[in-house]
Amino acid sequence: TATTLQSAIHGAPSSVAVIVPSKPNPLTVTYKDLVAEVNSFQKKLAAIGISQGSPVSIATVNSYEFIISFLAASWQRGIAAPLNPAYKQEEFEFYIEDVKTAIILVPKGAYQAGSPAVKAAQKFHAAIAETYWDATKNEVALDVKELGQLQGKPAQPLLTPQPQDIALILHTSGTTSRPKVVPLSHRNLTRTMYNIKATYQLTPQDRTMLVMPLFHVHGLLCGLLAPLLSGGSMVVPPKFSAHDFWVDFATHKANWYTAVPTIHQILLKHPTPNPLPKIRFIRSCSSPLSPTVFYALEKTYKAPVLEAYAMTEAAHQMTSNPLPPAKRKPGTVGIGQGVEVVILDDAGNLVPRGQEGEISIKGENVTKGYLNNPEANKSAFTKSGYFRTGDQGKLDEDGYVVITGRIKELINKGGEKISPIELDNILTRHPAIGEAVSFAIPDEMYGQEVAVAVVLKSGGQRVDAEELKKWVGEKLAKFKVPKKVYFTDVMPKTATGKIQRRIVAEEMVKKEG
Ligand code: ATP
Ligand code: MG
Repeated sequence: TATTLQSAIHGAPSSVAVIVPSKPNPLTVTYKDLVAEVNSFQKKLAAIGISQGSPVSIATVNSYEFIISFLAASWQRGIAAPLNPAYKQEEFEFYIEDVKTAIILVPKGAYQAGSPAVKAAQKFHAAIAETYWDATKNEVALDVKELGQLQGKPAQPLLTPQPQDIALILHTSGTTSRPKVVPLSHRNLTRTMYNIKATYQLTPQDRTMLVMPLFHVHGLLCGLLAPLLSGGSMVVPPKFSAHDFWVDFATHKANWYTAVPTIHQILLKHPTPNPLPKIRFIRSCSSPLSPTVFYALEKTYKAPVLEAYAMTEAAHQMTSNPLPPAKRKPGTVGIGQGVEVVILDDAGNLVPRGQEGEISIKGENVTKGYLNNPEANKSAFTKSGYFRTGDQGKLDEDGYVVITGRIKELINKGGEKISPIELDNILTRHPAIGEAVSFAIPDEMYGQEVAVAVVLKSGGQRVDAEELKKWVGEKLAKFKVPKKVYFTDVMPKTATGKIQRRIVAEEMVKKEG
């Protein structure tokens, strides 16, 4: 088995690897071209000083240049640190400082425009380069705009990645403290790639519609890396568009896709393609898929729907419902897939089958531990080496995992995790706000939406919901803006004066009637 991202790309040289459905001219890339392109991009990175452990932030939408730069960074023993390109400057600053970005890759034109990513990178003296497909030269460009901290660094030799090298750094969303930094090694990532390949029996004949963002493990591991290991291919639009989805699917002959429940629901609201393409399976992951949506999907698209369960620390997948003829059970996330899954009580003991406890896992895919966070590492791993997921759940009579709740209180808006603490902190910076507590409210479309309860400062200035939403929108990405603002005179607290978000949420919704 391959244990690095360099040795785990297994397509036949002449097979198609990537299709970018740009109009009017789609870009089609074979495995031979893909590998050559990664090689030449790796040389460009080495030439400006990227070497073992150099953090390479990638802030572009899904694209061929994302794929190439991600792989090239990891082949050069660097650390890819993808970032949501929709972040505002303050968010970019947080992540760039945290991962110590050596170079940030931004889209063409971003430098001239002084994009939020560029401004944030300048603050921390990260090198800045634009990357894009250069059709005239037939290559992915690395157009360096500022060398920053790489100034004067000599060119580096071409390196070969080792299994224990950190290839990827991503953040969790942070419920009780600041977001935690998750390093994932080549070995972690390749283990998940094999697990996903085996779960869905991926072959060179399979082609996926890759619509999940590549800056999260979902899109990166299941949409990109597992297919590359399997020798299959992917259709890569810049982002999900319900309007284009089935057109691209049919035009480019895809046969499966993976997405969060929100995307499935959006698709169901759109006209069903006619004729219906042949879909081998549909995968759902990252937030709970309601049985109603499960049945609607299977009926509408005449394909088995397989719900999976994943997290950043596990390099994505832990469990999944299996392909037919094995049984898939809506309302469950299936069985461990190359990952050992147990249910533990607080003391770390196994609970009897059927009883609830903390879902805990063991496997080669699991991170060795958070960066710079010994406290979190101490509580995350049990004495016998299980990783505690923070999710509450149980095993049913067939050993299928049922998730019953989150131990943490993150807001999960259609798979996008929003930290209530981050929001609280932004809101309490508003001069009129005394206290702010953010929480999730149920939402038909996204599963959860963002809400916040605020206490105004006494004798201070008045403020309305619209102004607060605007305040947040200027500082954080749009998806984090609260849908609902509750004004309250007192914030409910526990006897010891602590905030329990669940309780605040209940009280606010109750008061409103
Ligand atoms: P943090 O660790 O900072 O609290 P997070 O756990 O929300 O953030 P991710 O790693 O993106 O960040 O998400 C993993 C979590 O997503 C899981 O622990 C689980 O709560 C939830 N999740 C994933 N898949 C499913 C699913 N199929 N059904 C329900 N919840 C899911
Ligand atoms: Mg988590």
